[in-house]
Amino acid sequence: MIRGTVRLEVAVGPRRRLDKARFPLDRIERLARVVDERQAGGLVSFMDLWGPERDPQESVETRPMAAVPSLDAYAHFAPARTADELRSAGAVLGMTLSLEEAMQHSEPPNLPIAWGVGCHPRNPKAQAAFDAGRFAELVERTALVGEIGLDTRWSRVALATQVETFRRILAVVARLPRLVSIHSYSATSLVLEELRNCPIAVPVLHWWTGTVAQTREAVALGCYFSVHSAVARQSKFRTAVPPNRLLVESDHGWSDPPAAIPCRVEWVEHLLAQHLGCRQTDVRELVWRNLAAIVRETGTRSLLPEALQALLPED
Ligand SMILES: [Zn+2]
Repeated sequence: MIRGTVRLEVAVGPRRRLDKARFPLDRIERLARVVDERQAGGLVSFMDLWGPERDPQESVETRPMAAVPSLDAYAHFAPARTADELRSAGAVLGMTLSLEEAMQHSEPPNLPIAWGVGCHPRNPKAQAAFDAGRFAELVERTALVGEIGLDTRWSRVALATQVETFRRILAVVARLPRLVSIHSYSATSLVLEELRNCPIAVPVLHWWTGTVAQTREAVALGCYFSVHSAVARQSKFRTAVPPNRLLVESDHGWSDPPAAIPCRVEWVEHLLAQHLGCRQTDVRELVWRNLAAIVRETGTRSLLPEALQALLPED
């Protein structure tokens, strides 16, 4: 049995060292198994620790990458986008700004695009019109909630109103487990405080700008992180966030061309790959596995579009 904290120095790529990383106990046990199987020979790679666990006798089979589209954990689309326009966007978790917008989106046929139900903290109309009963009804029908959250810097909505809406939303998703994408701009400690008071199944912090200490607390609260290119270089995503809590996002805007999403996602994948000392394709596989874990944890598979379900890697 392994006890206590292990300080691990392991080469995870040609140039990078994942030093002083804190590993959850199951990863340390897995590391011990990998080292044991190799009889202390060779390097332990990033995917040994975070990739799918395999029987060492089994031939290594990975999904052909061409068949795995980019996965964007956070983007906006205008409801008027046609299925044709969305076809080249890859797999996307689409966020909405208001309940009204959420009701306008329909699932494009045969595309791996899912819609969330949101109430943006910067949107005065959405905040004023928020209705917890209607929100709960909409949540029953979707695997995703977002964008919701708090913003003390750029919002014209009174903070008290934002906090009240956020609490009512958290109360619903504490009962109905969902992937919940949370905005926390300049409100990172407030968001953590609310999550501490009302724990939910899968909070996903988008565009996270918290300190290292706040990041560690967020990890302890069960948070995932959808990483945008603007923050992907920050070392806390390597030192304070276990890779199995990472997702990638474009934060594509309402009127941006959907076909550009895979380029933006791939760019973040490259940034994270350099950080983590692995290949860009490893990051892509990793975020798909992380989404699959979220879907299992929230029991929301059947609420996702079939085209998205079909892309989730097997356990
Ligand atoms: Zn946001």
